[in-house]
Amino acid sequence: MYYAYKYRLKPSDAHREELDRHRDICRQLYNHTLYRLNEYQDKHGELPSMTALRSELPDLKQWWDDLSDVYSKVLQTVVERLFDNLKALSALKKNGYGVGQLKWKPPREFRSFTYSQSGFKLDKKGGQTVLSLSKLADIPIRLHRPIPDDAKLKQVTVKKEPTGEWFATFGVEVDREPPEPPENPEKCVGIDVGIFKYAHDTDGTAVGSLDLSDERERLEHEQRKLSRKQRGSNNWEKQRRRIAECHADLRRKRRDFLHKLSNYYAREYDFVAVEDLNVKGMMESPSNSRNTASAAWRTFLSLLEYKCEREGTHFVAVNPSGTTKECASCGVSTEKPLWVREHSCPACGFEADRDANAAWNILSRGLENVGVGHSEGTPVETALPTDTPVSAKRVVEAGSPTLKERTASAVSE
Ligand SMILES: [Zn+2]
Repeated sequence: MYYAYKYRLKPSDAHREELDRHRDICRQLYNHTLYRLNEYQDKHGELPSMTALRSELPDLKQWWDDLSDVYSKVLQTVVERLFDNLKALSALKKNGYGVGQLKWKPPREFRSFTYSQSGFKLDKKGGQTVLSLSKLADIPIRLHRPIPDDAKLKQVTVKKEPTGEWFATFGVEVDREPPEPPENPEKCVGIDVGIFKYAHDTDGTAVGSLDLSDERERLEHEQRKLSRKQRGSNNWEKQRRRIAECHADLRRKRRDFLHKLSNYYAREYDFVAVEDLNVKGMMESPSNSRNTASAAWRTFLSLLEYKCEREGTHFVAVNPSGTTKECASCGVSTEKPLWVREHSCPACGFEADRDANAAWNILSRGLENVGVGHSEGTPVETALPTDTPVSAKRVVEAGSPTLKERTASAVSE
């Protein structure tokens, strides 16, 4: 299995200068190669082979001195990536898709470069951990969580964020079988993702939706300001950048929330059951708010699945049909419009929050799917009294819905 681990670098000023210099040499190589490839394609109607392209690099170094300052595999990766992208684009064109052309990249759009297979390692220097990059520098790195001992480091990408911070993302391979479902899992959870609440689980945790109204308001405010500026002027350009920052801020906050929530479930439980949204999406009537919500659910579930795999937690996506209507206690179905927030079973009398009842159904379907029993009793004993709403803000601040009393390790990313 292949994982990504991202860490913050702590470069000195001299390191920054070197990182930027290497980044810019890679950028120039990118632009040069793009020009050459377009030229070749115009003349021959197709791209040269990758081998032919790769073999040009040594010749290039003859007259382009700066290239020798950069580790050769890094240069190769620049060329290979560009080649792959062009190839993918021309395949799309052949199939009749109207796709644009790859563009020459100005400095602010070329942000990263990659060491692949060799030329990099984690090391200790002067009492601190450094990322040692061949032909570049030993850059202090903050390993806020460890890379597993049995992991093979395949590559590292160093990237400068628009804020000026540098990060290193390791591509890591781990030889590990997907986890067997635990025979009698102690810590199992079913999660219902909702519209009014972000999620509701079988341990009675209900997580509210993330409140981004301040950020949205700021965005609207900045957009109004843009409309008053003269198009193309310096101030207009400046304002446009400000709006881009607002968008980035919104994206980052949303993502951060989803990361923390998925980390929490993957680390706290042995077994996680959710609804299969590919099926759910088709069943439920589309409306705008729903589509937005379902995009966020998808992101959440894919993060959750990936993290469960990483943590050795068993992950199951179940058929969502009827999870809301069915009684988690006796199985009898009753119609329930969206605005009915309580489940109250006419057959057995079981009462619960609508989403808690759904979460219980999701969990029992999940356990059924993998053929394991569940040791805890019926939902009646556990689902009713413990429902504690948790605001999304608390998830963002504390990294886990129920703070330290539940887990000390759920914060990261
Ligand atoms: Zn019932």
